Amino acid sequence: MDQSTIEKLKDIVGPNYVADKDYDLIAYSRAWSYEGPLQPDVIVVPGSTEAVSQVMKLANEVGTPVTVRAGGTTTTGMALPRHGGIVLDLNRMNTIYGIDEDAQAITMQAGTTVYGLIKYIEQRGWKIPWLPEFGGGVTIGGWTAFNGVGAGGSIYGRVGDFIIGLQVVLPTGEIVRTGSASFKGARQFTRYLGTGPDLTGLYLNSLGVSGVMTEVTMRVYPIPEALDCISFGFDTSEDAQEGMKKLIRANIAYGITCVDDEMFKTIGLPPPAPWVVQFFAEGWKEEVEFRIGKARQIIAEAGFGNELPSNTIKMLWGGARGTSLRSKPPKRYFCVGCFHSMDTTAEVFNVYNRVGEKYGMNRGMLWWTCQTYANAFPVYVYDELNDGPEAAAQATKEVREGWTAAGAVPDYPGPNPDCTPNIVPEYLAFWGRIKNALDPNCVMHRGQSPVVE
Ligand SMILES: Cc1cc2nc3c(=O)[nH]c(=O)nc-3n(C[C@H](O)[C@H](O)[C@H](O)COP(=O)(O)OP(=O)(O)OC[C@H]3O[C@@H](n4cnc5c(N)ncnc54)[C@H](O)[C@@H]3O)c2cc1C
Repeated sequence: MDQSTIEKLKDIVGPNYVADKDYDLIAYSRAWSYEGPLQPDVIVVPGSTEAVSQVMKLANEVGTPVTVRAGGTTTTGMALPRHGGIVLDLNRMNTIYGIDEDAQAITMQAGTTVYGLIKYIEQRGWKIPWLPEFGGGVTIGGWTAFNGVGAGGSIYGRVGDFIIGLQVVLPTGEIVRTGSASFKGARQFTRYLGTGPDLTGLYLNSLGVSGVMTEVTMRVYPIPEALDCISFGFDTSEDAQEGMKKLIRANIAYGITCVDDEMFKTIGLPPPAPWVVQFFAEGWKEEVEFRIGKARQIIAEAGFGNELPSNTIKMLWGGARGTSLRSKPPKRYFCVGCFHSMDTTAEVFNVYNRVGEKYGMNRGMLWWTCQTYANAFPVYVYDELNDGPEAAAQATKEVREGWTAAGAVPDYPGPNPDCTPNIVPEYLAFWGRIKNALDPNCVMHRGQSPVVE
């Protein structure tokens, strides 16, 4: 990148917020994923939406790629620059604008951390729909771009389902609001309005390819009176599948999760059963008692599955314990996930186990429902020094192939393996037309899959 571009970037965001020395760039050449190093030419840390807009305009002028990076925790390698250029670090943009109690909405800058937001609203008696399980670095923008899933997904769905609207900077630099605030005089209270299709959706699961989110408005709720849970053990993946299907169809859960015995072994706890299904309910106290009682009755009547001691859930959850497998370097872990319909559950579990056994990898399955379907999110431990990231890449590829054969779809786009060949050509061409119209110079996340011409 030539020096005059670097100087212009310094003029936009301030000289202290541009870094192009090797020792800075190296720190940005890896993310949580097993990929890397992939080094940018320059790191830019904007402090405002206007600054993001000017950076995007400059990037188009000089034809340099831009990769958005926030917490860098994504497991997909999507925060890494595939063709160098600018890495846009959004962590400076972390202002929370306050709760609009009438609209039950909160608006904040996209670099606000999720746990910072949770702390802020809990102190005021409100909550976001469900509590995620990850590290402190995850930002609202990253979480929205990732369209996360969590334990309260049975009622509230995925993160995208509780986003009301966004402020975005388009790849060409224009600043736009989606949601009801796109209508003159209206504030953010609904995602949908009768002025055309839902453009917020262009940014969910986008992982940065369609522009930069600078503000996010999210639905919030008063903290309910009660939240409780009950655990059931199942002997086989088929029994776990059927038990969970019955609980889902009853439509009474706040969340349903499933963890396997490998997860317990990997984090050094005695497995209470081969498959542990956890049912969560929230609401008024009586309502929660009713829902828990109903779940108990459904599993008892099914004739398979046993209720487990009440401390089972507390053993697993809290502080991302379930996903933070104990592994000291050179051991690292990688994640790979899919979405699938309920009847595919057992096969999805079996594929994950087969690959883990083949490569002798310690592992753990984390699984939760999203309303009527499911997200499987296994974590595998590998040896970075002896097996190299190649082992992680090969295992990921085989898990994905097995899941594709079973009819599951990837949960997040990611470069490895490139899922582009599995996308129906007409859909890919449709997306290609939108991407080219939005980003004619292909500056956003150049080289990221799905790759469109
Ligand atoms: C141990 C662990 C446990 C996890 N558990 C869960 C879980 O329970 N539930 C869950 O939902 N997720 C979970 N995740 C995934 C987590 O949601 C993502 O890692 C996180 O959302 C990424 O946020 P980030 O700020 O780190 O973004 P980054 O990793 O920096 O970026 C992620 C992607 O979003 C893009 N992006 C970031 N900010 C913006 C923006 N403002 N505008 C446009 N694009 C942007 C980036 O370009 C990149 O493609 C887990 C991750 C880990 C490591």
